[in-house]
Amino acid sequence: MQEHSIRLFPDPVLRRTASKVTKFDHELRLMINAMESVMRTQPDGIGIAAPQIGISKQIAIVDVSPRIPGAKRILLINPVILKTEQETISREGCMSLPEYSAYLKRFNRVMVGWYDEKGAYHSKWAEGIEAICIQHEVDHLMGKLFIDRVVCLKSDMIPRKAKTKS
Ligand SMILES: [Zn+2]
Repeated sequence: MQEHSIRLFPDPVLRRTASKVTKFDHELRLMINAMESVMRTQPDGIGIAAPQIGISKQIAIVDVSPRIPGAKRILLINPVILKTEQETISREGCMSLPEYSAYLKRFNRVMVGWYDEKGAYHSKWAEGIEAICIQHEVDHLMGKLFIDRVVCLKSDMIPRKAKTKS
């Protein structure tokens, strides 16, 4: 497989709706490996979506363990947010927009359904930073970026130095 690197805004792949995974095969595992190795190059990364490395498929990885010790990595294939609770304001950044972070509206609790790499279905309620990261990554799979959710570009966008990326 070719070398993958982070795609930066305004790369058009970030704006495409990713296609659903239909084959749970060796090729899928190669894509997941490529995503993980790119994620590991970002020491403060807590999530990555396949379009961020140029693959327009519904695959995302959420691993908030750098922020919540003991949290388990979740590999989300064809994820769908089924329920939401408790609106909250979150400050977010993104590896594809490394210059900024912003405050935006999210939900503090989400129920997400997804498939694993073997094609088995799972669902669970996620909370806090994990729930927010899941919403951020599911947005990527829909061609949506956090800047689309910013209420006021002028006051809510913050140039940043080092902040958690997802
Ligand atoms: Zn992102």
